[in-house]
Amino acid sequence: MFATPLGSVPVARADFLSVAFYSIPLNVRFRGVTVREGVLLEGPNGWGEFCAFDDYDDQESLPWLRTALEAALEGWPAQIRRVVPVNSIIPAVGPDEARRRALSARCATAKIKVADHPDSLAEDLARVEAVRDALGPGGHVRIDVNGKWDVGTARKHIPLLDKAAGGLQYVEQPCWTIDELAAVRKAVDVPIAADESIRRAEDPLKVAVAGAADVAVVKCTPLGGVRRALQVAEAAGLPTVVSSAVETSVGLGAQLALAAALPELPYACGFGTGALLTGDLVAPEAALGPKNGSVMAPMGPLAPDPELLARWTMPDPARVQWWSDRLDRVLALHNAQRGR
Ligand SMILES: [Mg+2]
Repeated sequence: MFATPLGSVPVARADFLSVAFYSIPLNVRFRGVTVREGVLLEGPNGWGEFCAFDDYDDQESLPWLRTALEAALEGWPAQIRRVVPVNSIIPAVGPDEARRRALSARCATAKIKVADHPDSLAEDLARVEAVRDALGPGGHVRIDVNGKWDVGTARKHIPLLDKAAGGLQYVEQPCWTIDELAAVRKAVDVPIAADESIRRAEDPLKVAVAGAADVAVVKCTPLGGVRRALQVAEAAGLPTVVSSAVETSVGLGAQLALAAALPELPYACGFGTGALLTGDLVAPEAALGPKNGSVMAPMGPLAPDPELLARWTMPDPARVQWWSDRLDRVLALHNAQRGR
């Protein structure tokens, strides 16, 4: 359901003051691509970013467009905080590099990637221990498994990693399915966070009903906007961690608006995906980078810098046409389903 004023009137291309197509190379191959493409839509309220991944069909792209429409045409709901604490991300690196990264990030919370390969336990233990050592007893250490363990492995590894970490804050997505998460949650004392299990609007409710998680990791971009994500978080009834979806600072603004509007925000959020991009569309002084472990939520949508927009403008006319056609199709879908 898109139960906001936007749901009551159809949206046309003519409602946008400008439409800009961008293409920014990535540092690393991600989801099989080496560039991030998307469309910026300027409406009366400001700028929104539509950047559904290429392989998403129109229906799956619709909430991504609605997140952009909310920013451009409607604006975000009231915020109750400006400062949003963020976590650092420690990839599957050796202990010395993990320690160095944890220190240089200046974040009190570190999210450590584990289960990089089937025999990674010894490396995972050393990495977790090194990060705890770097953060000290006041820091928070969480691990992200990205669904790679089975229930048996999770039951065996989580207590060992919890001990090495001197207490884990939570384990993110230890297994793939909701049933597996529920089984692990019953078997271990460490809180479980659901990330990949929460991708579509109805999933958080399933996770909560199944008793599969203690924490919900929520991205507002694939849910259809800040208001929709607030509804989902409320319905799930779990503490919420907001995380980004590889947007420029224009799109990231919506994720921060969600973090700023949630009634409670007990954990640091994950906004590190911008580091995958080799450039941004917002000028460095206004871009949403972390400073001393937190990011300031913008009061409203951020505008792109004209020079940066020109620099990262989509060079291939065929791709511009592809995105323009996609925008028209998904807009038509929004209008057809706008009461839903
Ligand atoms: Mg995750």
